[in-house]
Amino acid sequence: MSGTLPQSAIQRASSEWSAHVAQTRPAIRALLVSIVTGHRDDLHQRYLAYLGDDQAIADVFSDPAARADFADRFIRWLHALLTLDPAERDAFQTRQAEVGKLMSRIGLPAHALSRSMRKLKLWFITQLRDQPIDRADVLDAMAHVIVVIDTAIEIREQGYLTDRAQQARAEEAYRLHALGQNLAMERERQRAALMDWLQGLLARLYQAQDATDLPRLEKSEFGLWFDHKAQLMFEGAPDLALIAKAIERIDRTIIPQFAALLDADRGELGRMIALIQTEVGSIKFALNTVFDARMEIENSRDPLTNLLNRRFLPTVLMREIAVQKARQPSGFCLVMLDVDWFKSINDEYGHLAGDRVLQQLAACVVNTVRPSDFVFRFGGEEIAIVLVDADEARGIEIAENLRAHIAGLTVRLADQRELAVTASFGLAPWQGELDYQQLLARADQALYAAKTGGRNRVEVAPLPIEALVQPAQLSQ
Ligand code: GH3
Ligand code: MG
Ligand code: MG
Repeated sequence: MSGTLPQSAIQRASSEWSAHVAQTRPAIRALLVSIVTGHRDDLHQRYLAYLGDDQAIADVFSDPAARADFADRFIRWLHALLTLDPAERDAFQTRQAEVGKLMSRIGLPAHALSRSMRKLKLWFITQLRDQPIDRADVLDAMAHVIVVIDTAIEIREQGYLTDRAQQARAEEAYRLHALGQNLAMERERQRAALMDWLQGLLARLYQAQDATDLPRLEKSEFGLWFDHKAQLMFEGAPDLALIAKAIERIDRTIIPQFAALLDADRGELGRMIALIQTEVGSIKFALNTVFDARMEIENSRDPLTNLLNRRFLPTVLMREIAVQKARQPSGFCLVMLDVDWFKSINDEYGHLAGDRVLQQLAACVVNTVRPSDFVFRFGGEEIAIVLVDADEARGIEIAENLRAHIAGLTVRLADQRELAVTASFGLAPWQGELDYQQLLARADQALYAAKTGGRNRVEVAPLPIEALVQPAQLSQ
């Protein structure tokens, strides 16, 4: 699979490069080439130092031979850049784009694209300062250096970004593929694999024959899965590092001590086994966290209330705003609902009863609003509702109806006790906001007003004080 380079941007850059090089005096170009060839060793040394002084770059070139090779390539690249004929536009652009892709493939960070070039430009300035040439020549030479280097960076960036995007797509595709598998099943399988390893280790320890070659977790079925698949499936999950550390402690610290202990001190064995069980327990816990987080992302609904997951709220709001701008606006409203005195329900009836209230309340909201409206669990006992195709008057009507329904609701607890709840509402009709955060802030203010105004009521957000940026104003 090959990524598509944005050809028009690249062609524009390279034709500007070509035009500039064509009008640069040959003497100026020759001078720059002679500076490079005359200071090849100095440049090489400096480039090596540059590769080493930034950790993220140095990590890529941990092998000194690779570093030296890359420094050689750099000098060749620079020489070619300065000697290339302006007519060789295709060669120029292909080469720069390839360098960019290469930089991405070997894992150089994005800042490496321009960092070395900034240093290179300064190096040329220092060199030119010492040349016995007049001011106009120095300036022409610098202009040439800036154009060739900056155009090269511009095209490199396109190559780099294309390759990065392609990698990201491939990784995403893999993750989606991995997710397509049943996560719950995979979790059980890996927990079982972890326990199998532990059983195997314990069996070996109790037999106490040959303690020199105890099974390492890293090389177990679980360890291999963790190292190769989990890292890809759950990339970036913080708990992965916890698991990796626990595996390392088990393999590098605890198991080697077992080997020494077996003959000497059987009494110590129990303590060591307890230690390893603690580590395994922490791996299982972290594994759960990683899987749970991923399952939550995969599920679009909140497990307790079955309402939409809050992370889709921005998408829905942005889409509604776009729809309003694209068509004859019919308005929409954001409603924030917060249960009144919910903490005291928890305190008085217990957390489980609180959960039950939330479930019944969520069902009541979904059944009362229109099927086309969106209902999200926003936080603990807060619900966000997007009322589509509704101006302020319609929004107030729906919210008021909802308030009355909730106030009339009788929640039956598991022990058949009944309790009543009310909720407060903050309603923000869309007023032309381009940024959905403004709408959220207004709904929140209105909710606060509903709470301080006595609860069990609907408050409408006033128009923002500062003049609103209307879409029409923006396009002027
Ligand atoms: P107010 O009328 O001012 O909103 O009073 P409140 O008691 O509802 O105030 P607050 O919003 O501070 O309290 C919310 C409580 O909701 C706190 C938290 O313990 C509880 N809560 C949050 N999520 C859940 C949940 O999933 N289940 C249960 N049972 N309780 C939850
Ligand atoms: Mg609250
Ligand atoms: Mg509350």
